[in-house]
Amino acid sequence: MSLSDKALLRYDRQIVLKDFDIEKQQQLATANVMIVGMGGLGCIVATYLASSGIGRLTLVDPDTVSLSNIPRQILFTEDDCGKAKVDVAKQQLALRNKDCHIVTYPYAIDDSEIWFERCAEHDMIIDCTDQLYSRQQINRLCFTTSVPLISGAAIRMEGCVISFTWKKDEPCYECLSHRFGNSVGSCVENGVMSPLTGVIGSLQAMEAIRHLTHYGCQTEGRYLLYDAMNFSFTPLKVKRNPHCSLCA
Ligand SMILES: [Zn+2]
Repeated sequence: MSLSDKALLRYDRQIVLKDFDIEKQQQLATANVMIVGMGGLGCIVATYLASSGIGRLTLVDPDTVSLSNIPRQILFTEDDCGKAKVDVAKQQLALRNKDCHIVTYPYAIDDSEIWFERCAEHDMIIDCTDQLYSRQQINRLCFTTSVPLISGAAIRMEGCVISFTWKKDEPCYECLSHRFGNSVGSCVENGVMSPLTGVIGSLQAMEAIRHLTHYGCQTEGRYLLYDAMNFSFTPLKVKRNPHCSLCA
């Protein structure tokens, strides 16, 4: 696929990046990415991916907009309360980049065959959900279909990002979920500072672009923790769990 003159102008600041070039911008234009969860993380990820020139996005979320979403979920306004998140997001993203083809599913994912098929149609899945069981489910879908997964989480004043590309000896999300146990709640119970989802969602979008275009270093199995209270980022190496209930 060759880029139009307008696209070359529009994405000029990315194209001039050393070693990125037109070729990688074209890879973004042909990429098909599914974002699960259109909350604080999903709104940021979708905004940056649509803006950066990703060709196709699939948005998944069963929820409607509520007033307490607005501080973090920057695609929505008060007037959108009660409307399906995926519908409002699609409208807003189309204003931002009408060349981005957007498909919406206003449903929760589950273990049915159709979700394995939908997952397999994509080049990458981005987990922007905020429940442990959803993360485990997305991990199962991606592990089974070998579709790369960028997982992000943001709660209180802490967040993390990790990428899974299913290379040999690489961990899966389940390998590290024992770190969280059943003690992990959602932002509903624990609260979250609004810009935190912006930081983590931006990191997820950056990792998505890097992995889709093989740009920069490989980060599989590396876990980046952000502690907003202490102004610190900590990279950790995560090993595969030989007793993992999914990938062992
Ligand atoms: Zn595992």
